[in-house]
Amino acid sequence: MTQNPITSDNCKICDKELIKFLSLGQMPIANALVKKEDLSKKEFFYPLDIGFCPSCYTVQMFTIIPYEMYLRLDENQKRNYVFFSSTSEVMKQHFKEWADEIDKSYLKQDSLVIDIGSNDGILLQNFNKNKFKVLGIEPAHNVAEVARSKGINTITDYITETIAKEVVNKFGKARVIASANVILNIADLNELMRCINILLEEEGIFTFEDPYLPVILENNTYDQFYDEHIYYFTAHSIKNLVERYNMEIFDAKFQNVHGGSMRFYVKRKSNKNIKISENVNTILKKEKDIGIDSGKAYQSFNKNVQQNKNDLIVLLKKLKSEGKRIVGYGAASKGTIVTNFCKLTPSIIDYISDNTPAKQGLYYPGVHIPIVTPEKFHEDNSDYALVFAWNHIKEIMNKEQDYINKGGKFIIPFPNVQILP
Ligand SMILES: [Zn+2]
Repeated sequence: MTQNPITSDNCKICDKELIKFLSLGQMPIANALVKKEDLSKKEFFYPLDIGFCPSCYTVQMFTIIPYEMYLRLDENQKRNYVFFSSTSEVMKQHFKEWADEIDKSYLKQDSLVIDIGSNDGILLQNFNKNKFKVLGIEPAHNVAEVARSKGINTITDYITETIAKEVVNKFGKARVIASANVILNIADLNELMRCINILLEEEGIFTFEDPYLPVILENNTYDQFYDEHIYYFTAHSIKNLVERYNMEIFDAKFQNVHGGSMRFYVKRKSNKNIKISENVNTILKKEKDIGIDSGKAYQSFNKNVQQNKNDLIVLLKKLKSEGKRIVGYGAASKGTIVTNFCKLTPSIIDYISDNTPAKQGLYYPGVHIPIVTPEKFHEDNSDYALVFAWNHIKEIMNKEQDYINKGGKFIIPFPNVQILP
């Protein structure tokens, strides 16, 4: 590890003092799965506290965990990321539709499309390389290598002003800069916006999607708060951020992925050729109505989260007392938050099944629940499977008809604890 976590009581964008509204206690790194031989070693924990800025309305973690603590180095000193975007068919389709929209609405022959945090190329793989230039910027070597094997030009690095200037020199400016589930984990968003300013054509657009805070508040999904997610956005906070750089939101569209995301579309204020959609004002007004700008929206959230935690613990303990066997389904990073916050150990959850080979044989951080193959899950006939990747519940239930037919039931924690079917 080359860096330490940084805790500050002030907004990382505008420096005003933050107001704390949720504390999930001491938390390990969500994806820091533990090897069997390391189970007795001391793990790293940090206080997972969330606050909002009364000035620019950005909701953020008090503690920043540097990338180096979750992008783990392998024996060749290469950064590895455990999440491959293209393992989900639903997400593949989602990114294909986004690419089609960008293609039709914003690109011209030979335009450059840049994806910041391009992972395994799940977005860029959809663009016709004979018509457009594509470039991924992705710090993790293993996923970038997969993108390159698909013919996607990828820079294996973090986005910085130096990299942005090099990109412009080598490839020219971008017509479209896209990013999915990445902006929220860039510690210095002022630096990111300076990079966007360098990279973007005068009439170019910056479009990105991230989990949408009002949905988190509405659905009690506290598991969206984890080390990689420093920020939780609203149209209010994005408006304030991009206006610092003479840009503005010209559209925003809700996306039913990752439990509810907002896709923002940003342009330079000087570009009058793109009209500002009615969606922007509608969303700003809805946010104002729930009190995003006054802090009202956060007041009941903490109470709802404690209630949700209590409901889940009560249900699981009741099932255990009836002699039922409970396992976990999908070793998503969200599950680290739920299991550690609710103190769900192997005495309650026997194991978690996951189809990512790199995770199998390892243990969940903090609570040390073993991760096993889907084969083990299919042979085992447990009574209940607690789904950590609850945002994929439809896909999971379609896939696991055999488990359901044999009497198996799924438990999802959000928005309220439920047993399905
Ligand atoms: Zn602020």
